[in-house]
Amino acid sequence: MRVMFAASEAMPLVKTGGLADVAGALPKALAKQGAEVTVVLPKYGEIPQAIADAVTTIAVMEVRLGWRTQYCGVQEVTVDGVRFILIDNEFYFKRGYLYGYGDEAERFAFFSFAVLEMLDKLDRLPDILHCHDWQTGLIPFLLKTRYANRPGYRDIRTVFTIHNLQYQGVFSRELLQDLLSTGDDSFTQDSLEFYGAASCMKAGLRFADKLSTVSYTYAHEIQSEEYGEKLDGVIRQRAQDLWGILNGIDTDVYDPMSDPHLAVNYRNSLEKKLQNKLALQRELGLPEREDVPLVGIVSRLTQQKGFDLIAEALPELMELDVQLVVLGSGEPGIEAMLRDALLANRDKMALWFGFNEGLARRIYAASDMYLMPSRFEPCGLSQLIALRYRSVPIVRETGGLKDTVAPYNEYTGTGNGFTFGPPTAHDMLYTIRRALAFYGDREHWERIVANGAKKDYGWESSAKLYCKLYRELVS
Ligand code: ADP
Repeated sequence: MRVMFAASEAMPLVKTGGLADVAGALPKALAKQGAEVTVVLPKYGEIPQAIADAVTTIAVMEVRLGWRTQYCGVQEVTVDGVRFILIDNEFYFKRGYLYGYGDEAERFAFFSFAVLEMLDKLDRLPDILHCHDWQTGLIPFLLKTRYANRPGYRDIRTVFTIHNLQYQGVFSRELLQDLLSTGDDSFTQDSLEFYGAASCMKAGLRFADKLSTVSYTYAHEIQSEEYGEKLDGVIRQRAQDLWGILNGIDTDVYDPMSDPHLAVNYRNSLEKKLQNKLALQRELGLPEREDVPLVGIVSRLTQQKGFDLIAEALPELMELDVQLVVLGSGEPGIEAMLRDALLANRDKMALWFGFNEGLARRIYAASDMYLMPSRFEPCGLSQLIALRYRSVPIVRETGGLKDTVAPYNEYTGTGNGFTFGPPTAHDMLYTIRRALAFYGDREHWERIVANGAKKDYGWESSAKLYCKLYRELVS
């Protein structure tokens, strides 16, 4: 089975969030199941120089975009056994950041055309073209319309995976019409039209042969008005084709036993884990105390992640004997809120704004608890990494958090974390207090940590499900 992933980020080349972890790790897990996976990405300026230096050019072509004809280099490089194809156009992709520019529609329309133009320049066409999130949503649409008559293209099957339904790539109809050179017939309700505008996410949802999302609970949630981001109707229509397949983590990459960023490597020893707490306290200027419970957060700073609950709860939380460490980047308002809280709590809080892979891992290793009160969470990888690093997750029961964190039951001794349902600061605080109470009771705490250690949160079983999905499509 030949599978091609089209994504806007993938580890270890470029990452802003969980999508990169998935697009980096899943190909390796699929390879173990016998699939041959290539990942196609834009060639961003952020790709590490050593990797950029190792590419070879396999084709140079022109891509038509509206009335323009743009240069497009097709390069390849193999990293950790995974073959990457890079779509090169410096005007679109050699910039300071991955996203957030005024011409996102044009950049990813270009990428979508380039992927389809490139396919028949390879030695063989893929059986499956697996697209991820809105940046690649136009690909299934273009394949079924513009490229349907290219020799061999009709046999290619498409999968579209929703990693986060909130980001949809909605643009004015005129703009997409111009970029795609399409007529009015592509902008009807059962095509790209979305409340008077045009949606790349909807293009993926309507035109891909199968859909998937990254947890069972999120697969159900997005069919409701509450979580459906105005696309629940479209998703309900395709419920038969929608699979919920839980994400995993790359257990070779996230392994406290071999992680080079940690002060002390460990697997199950809480004594060795404690050395990481003391080291982080030293690194961040917090009082070095073994006994104080350390709560960690590593997150994009967005409302999705429940920072409004954290803001409301912080004054009360800071009255407790805890330390809170937050690493994140994102909305300036959330940064400001955290900075304000820090002023009054320098001995209890530490903040680091920006993206920092090493510090992220040191926080997972150092923290006793990991807080993730998301308003919605398609899967969430942070809680899985936390579990792998023996930090006990405290999460809201939504999406993948619900599927991966089971609340501790002191009577049966089951559960690997603490959970709450209603998205309120009160419920979150109550749950944090409950976790703190058990933290003070070694016997219970060791059992909770041990329950979390029973699984490795790797990709194997989910990779098998993806293979099953691919086989259904190809047969
Ligand atoms: P999302 O994809 O919604 O951002 P996930 O929990 O699925 O959330 O994945 C987030 C990933 O990004 C995790 O690997 C997490 O450790 C990492 N991450 C988030 N923010 C930062 C940051 N500021 N620095 C380093 N890693 C981060």
